Amino acid sequence: DVAVALTSVTKQYAHGVTALDDVTIGFAPGTFTAVMGPSGSGKSTMLQCAAGLDRPSAGQVVIDGRDLATLKDRELTLLRRDRIGFIFQSFNLLPSLTAEQNVGLPLRLAGRRPDRALIRQSLAAVGLAERGSHRPGELSGGQQQRVAIARALVTRPAVLFADEPTGALDANTSRQVLQLLRTLVDKHAQTIVMVTHDAVAASYADRVVFLADGRVYGELHDPSAELVA
Ligand code: ADP
Ligand code: ADP
Repeated sequence: DVAVALTSVTKQYAHGVTALDDVTIGFAPGTFTAVMGPSGSGKSTMLQCAAGLDRPSAGQVVIDGRDLATLKDRELTLLRRDRIGFIFQSFNLLPSLTAEQNVGLPLRLAGRRPDRALIRQSLAAVGLAERGSHRPGELSGGQQQRVAIARALVTRPAVLFADEPTGALDANTSRQVLQLLRTLVDKHAQTIVMVTHDAVAASYADRVVFLADGRVYGELHDPSAELVA
């Protein structure tokens, strides 16, 4: 039972760079996985392939029971739009829109009515029910990242991918955002895959996968006990 499975995935870029080299890994529903490794080890490439944002050179990616190789570009775009959530280090909120409008964007992009109840539910899930009318500039960094998480969750994605979500936050704010991700897994069985270089961040996950030179070289199954927080 997997939300996302990579089987023997290899990704080669131009000029002979092998970013991923025969990676096989699965992400089970309702689990929180951290991906760690040195700069250039293939973490971002793995996230992009696992999220259907990039196609591997070889191997298989299955998201939500669907083999990406069998999907046309249009179908892949729809799968990404409707079943995948993505958050970034840099929040990527639109500064002129309110929190509610930012959270409603994925619904608009999907041609759906930006259902206010759904949007408010999403904002409440990240503890920002009272901030719906605020613009990003009126919110702290941690609050902005929580709006970005609410936006990624509004379509009820099968998997939430996070690329260094605490990279721009101070230690206290990072802990709040990580605790929120933990709660989404524990209370709502959200599947989360997070790239991080921070051992404290990784200690919030259920499992840590280590990459080096495009290969998986180790896993840790009880990171909160093993990684010094
Ligand atoms: P990480 O996220 O661990 O820093 P990346 O996945 O970004 O690693 O990169 C893995 C390798 O692939 C690196 O050698 C990087 O330079 C290379 N790479 C990443 N993206 C591209 C690209 N678009 N074109 C060519 N090489 C790339
Ligand atoms: P493209 O076809 O150009 O890749 P997308 O709409 O698929 O356009 O993605 C545009 C950007 O938005 C990508 O960088 C992707 O990582 C990001 N993205 C995709 N899904 C979501 C989401 N649910 N929430 C926030 N950002 C997303």
